[in-house]
Amino acid sequence: MTEPDDLAVFAYFHDVHVDRDNIAHYRGLMRSRLLVNRCNECGHWIYPHRPLCPECLSFSVEPAEVSGLGRLHMWTLIHQSRDPDKPLAAPLLAAAIELVEQPGLRYLSRVVGCPPERLRHDMPVQLTWIEEEGRRWPAFTPLEVG
Ligand SMILES: [Zn+2]
Repeated sequence: MTEPDDLAVFAYFHDVHVDRDNIAHYRGLMRSRLLVNRCNECGHWIYPHRPLCPECLSFSVEPAEVSGLGRLHMWTLIHQSRDPDKPLAAPLLAAAIELVEQPGLRYLSRVVGCPPERLRHDMPVQLTWIEEEGRRWPAFTPLEVG
C-alpha cells in the first residue's frame, strides 16, 4: 500500500489540527499503524508530537511504530460532546495509556470493550482499532491473556 500524501491526510482528518509535527502520526493512522516520534540520537520516544527531543535536544526525530502494548494510567468518562449538534450516544472513555516502550510515554486514546467499573489503574491493555464516522481510530482494550 502506498503512503497517503499530505493532501489525503488533510482531507481524511479535515476536522483535526494536522501540522508538520504530527502529520506522520495521522498518516500512520490511515494505515492502521500507531506511530510515535522517536529520537535518532538517544532513542527517546516523544509524545505529544514534537520535532525536538526533550532529552538530548536533537532535531533528528522520526516516527516509529509502537508495539500497541501498555497499561491504563488514568481515564475519565466524557459525557458532553464537543459538537452540540452531535450529542454522544454513550459516555466516551478517554484514557492515557502508558506504552511499554518507555516509562512516562502516555498516549491519549480511548478504552473500548470494558465497562468503566471494571477499569483498574495499571491494568494491561492492547491496541485495537475502532471505526467512527467512516474513519479508523486507535483505541485500547484489556489485554487478552492466553
Ligand atoms: Zn534524544
